[in-house]
Parts: sequence; C-alpha cells; structure tokens
Amino acid sequence: DRWVLQADLGHALRNGELSLHFQPQAEINGRIFGFEALMRWTHPTRGAISPDAFIPLAEASDIILDMSAWVLKEACRTAAGWTHPLTVAVNLSPIQFQHGELPLLIQQTLIDTGLPPSRLELEITEGILLGDFAHIVGLLRRIKAMGVRIAMDDFGTGYSSLSYLQAFPFDKIKIDKSFVQSIGRTEQATTIIRAVIGLCRGLGIPVIAEGVETEEQRSFLAQEHCTEIQGYIIGRPAPIQVYSKVVDSLAPASTT
Ligand code: C2E
Ligand code: CA
Ligand code: CA
Repeated sequence: DRWVLQADLGHALRNGELSLHFQPQAEINGRIFGFEALMRWTHPTRGAISPDAFIPLAEASDIILDMSAWVLKEACRTAAGWTHPLTVAVNLSPIQFQHGELPLLIQQTLIDTGLPPSRLELEITEGILLGDFAHIVGLLRRIKAMGVRIAMDDFGTGYSSLSYLQAFPFDKIKIDKSFVQSIGRTEQATTIIRAVIGLCRGLGIPVIAEGVETEEQRSFLAQEHCTEIQGYIIGRPAPIQVYSKVVDSLAPASTT
C-alpha cells in the first residue's frame, strides 16, 4: 500500500493534485497578520490524504524536493498578490537542507514572485539541526541575511535543546499544539508552556502558540503574555479564497 501510494505521489505534482491551504496566524486579540501555507494532496481515487501520511512518504524519496519547491513558489506567488502586505509562513523539510542550494532556491523564488523577503517566514523543526550542525546553521544564516524570518516549529516535542536557541537567532518559536491542548488538563503542560513563554520573553524571541481551539486556552495564553496564536479559534486551514476579505479588502485586516 505504501509503495503504491509513493508511486502515485510521484505523479501528483505533474497531475495538478497538490494544492495549498492557508491558515491564519493572529495577534492574541484576534487580528490576523499572516497565514501558514499547508500542503494538500487530493488523490484521484482515494480523495484527500493527510500530510502526516504523505509527507513522510515524499521524504523517503527525493519527491519532497520538487514538492517543496512548488509549495514555496505557490505560497510566495499567492502572498505577492494580496492587497494587504500580510506574511506567509512555509514549512521546510529536513531533506531540503541536505540537497541542492536552499538559499539560492529561496532567493530565486522571491525574485520570480516579487514577494519582499520580509513577508516570508520559514518554519523548521529542530530535527533539521540534528544533521551537520555547522553546515545547517550556515545555511540558515545565509537565508536570514536575505531578510527572510526563520521560526522554530513544534517546539517542545523533540530534544528542545536550549543550545539551539543560543546557536541560531530564531525569529519566532512555535509552541506545539500538544502542549496547548493540555492547558487546564495537566499541570505539567501548563508549567511547560509558562516556562517556554518566559524563556522566550527573556531571550526577546516572539512566541506563537499553535492548535488554539478554545477561549479557555486563548485566555490562559493571554494571561501568560503569549503574543500570537494560530488554531481553529482564529480559523481553519482553507483555500485562500475563503480568506479573500482578510487579504484583499480595503479596510484593515481583521477577523470580523
Ligand atoms: P504543522 O506544521 O505543525 O502544522 C500544523 C498542523 O496543525 C496542520 O495540520 C493544521 O491543520 C493543524 N491545526 C491547526 N490548527 C489546529 C487546531 O486548532 N487544532 C488541531 N487539532 N489541529 C490544528 P496538517 O495541515 O494536517 O499538517 C500536518 C503537518 O504536515 C504539518 O504540521 C507539517 O509538519 C506538515 N506539512 C504540511 N504542509 C507541509 C509542507 O508544505 N511542507 C512540509 N515539509 N511539511 C508540511
Ligand atoms: Ca508548521
Ligand atoms: Ca506542530
């Protein structure tokens, strides 16, 4: 089954089966300042397949490289067309750091789409840093030097080595949704969130909490001085047309 799916994935890009959904990112008060681009695959017979299922398959072969280049270009092209200069966040795969010239790909994509670098944020997981550390930090520095921001995704789920925060000046830390969803349920998760927000405040790194679904979670985060949120409480990932009022209306962007 895996093998058949992987073979199908090889044609997905060419056949136009990939698309992007956009999920709003907002200030704690609900004002949307940008979107995260999330890849979607609609299989011709099986329908929608979750990225958690197909991205590992794509990463097991080099298909992920073409798919990721497509996502980057499509996300930048879309954002460049918005009336409001909102930001766009794109997920990077560890494989992209092992092959090809990632800084050049990013630079060329910005030139081709006309998106100002300051409106692009790249999300990496700490797994990326487990490879050749010096080489990868070098690539990240070159990307950051272009004016593109780098965010650490899923913070708290891996090794969460504090030395990573010292080795590279991340522009943002995303607290993983597994912690957010334990707010009010486990004392441990609540304490961890509080500590991460405090740590990042001390280091001067903005924090965004992902997977915020309830008002209880939002108000806890507000009380802990978390400045940004993403999750169903603000909006679900959807085709950008769903958010056309936010990105294109003449009034200032807002959730209302
Ligand atoms: P991620 O980067 O942590 O993305 C957030 C995931 O949480 C998304 O799942 C999103 O739909 C989901 N989510 C957002 N808000 C909520 C919420 O309030 N509650 C709940 N329960 N879930 C929420 P999705 O779209 O299925 O993506 C799964 C993962 O696939 C992503 O996790 C990311 O690691 C990966 N992925 C998606 N698109 C790309 C891509 O273009 N490139 C790469 N390399 N990875 C991608
Ligand atoms: Ca992400
Ligand atoms: Ca996550």
